This record gives sequence, structure tokens and C-alpha cells, in this order.
Amino acid sequence: MAVSSSVLLPPGGQRILVLIAHPDDAESFCGGTIARLATEGRAVHYLVITRGDKGSDDLTMTPERLSPIREEEQRQAAKVLGVQTVTFLEGYSDGAIEPTLTLRQELTLKIREWRPDIIFTFDPWKRYEIHPDHRATGLCTFDAVAAARGWMNYPEQLRDGVTAHKVKQIYFFNTDEPNHWVDISDVIDKKIEARCSHVSQINPANHPSGYLRRWAAEAGAVKGYALSEAFHYYGL
Ligand SMILES: [Zn+2]
Repeated sequence: MAVSSSVLLPPGGQRILVLIAHPDDAESFCGGTIARLATEGRAVHYLVITRGDKGSDDLTMTPERLSPIREEEQRQAAKVLGVQTVTFLEGYSDGAIEPTLTLRQELTLKIREWRPDIIFTFDPWKRYEIHPDHRATGLCTFDAVAAARGWMNYPEQLRDGVTAHKVKQIYFFNTDEPNHWVDISDVIDKKIEARCSHVSQINPANHPSGYLRRWAAEAGAVKGYALSEAFHYYGL
């Protein structure tokens, strides 16, 4: 696929849902693209499956204390990027997401309620992705996109104005088979600011500003951008 200077491939759309496992996933993997989409006037919403309650090396921290801290950090980061709403699912723990039928049903309902044109999520088939939540989130989201299309799937959801819904495009991030690149040279500072809103997730010995620039340079080098985010695009 050719390099595209536009953020999205046609037909695109105005409503975008970013479906992630943890606070900071979106900023780390597609924050520059989200910043550009928000600037273009598109409605970007986040759905976060967990509150990242295991994301600390502090031996005095507990999941109960960490959850609200990370929720607030995610809301702040979303503001930096111009994201309109952030919704967290209830009942899912960091490190324990599985692509169950229960989660598929929940994600299907969210997709039918919000009716996104476009979804951003993890590439579940990235080789050697070590975090099980990232794999499970991508897989279950893909399955929910399929389920949301057919009215015979979860027909009990189809009331109060909720109908079957067809997502038009999926952009899988954290992929090892990219086929679409977005130039983030102009928004790298905003991406880093958003990522650094996750104060609890900053390791001074490995500051995000260093590795985010390095990732972007590596992704961009393939296609001639100074700084880029890479995706595997899937059209439906
Ligand atoms: Zn994550």
C-alpha cells in the first residue's frame, strides 16, 4: 500500500473508537494519530477495558489505590489529545483480560451504541507480543466488530434505538505487519505530553520522550517520514 499523507484511508468517517487494554496504551501506540484526527474535527472516544491496576513496581502500591490514579491520568492524557470521552469497563483486571464470549458481548454492545466508523485497537497477531491483555483486546475487539454487524447476534441488545452496526475500518496498532503510516512529525511533542500525563508510568531511567521518538523514527524510516506511527489497516 502506498504512503498516505492523510491520516486515514478513504472512506474514513467522523466517529472513531479507540479500544485499549490499559491507560497509556493509546498514547503510547497511536497518540500522534489521535492528535491529528482530533485536529481534523473527528470525534474520538476511548474505551478502556481495565484501569491498569497492576502497573507499578512500587512495593507499597496496591491495585485498589492505583486504579483511580491511573483512571485520572488517562482522562488527563485524553484531554491533551482532544479525545471527547473516556469510558472504562467494570470488572476487568490488569493482566487478566481474555477474549471471552462475555467480553465480546460487552464490546459488541458498546460498538452498537456508539456506532463508530473506525476502530483503533491492538494487532492481536503481532508475533511475540508478551502482554496477554494486548493480544486479548485486539482479538476480542475484532470478534465484536464481526458480531455487531449481524442482528441475530445478541438480539436482546437491539432495543431502545440500538441496532446492528457495521464498522468500516480497523487500524491495528502495535503491529509487525504495517500497511499504513501516519506522519506524526508535527504532533510528536503533543504525543509525548499526553504519554507523560501518565505520571505513575514514567521511569526516569527510560523516559518516554526517548523511546517514543525512537519508535516513531524507526516506523517512519520505512516510508520516508521523519516520525511516524504504523498500522495494519483492515477495511470491511
Ligand atoms: Zn497496555
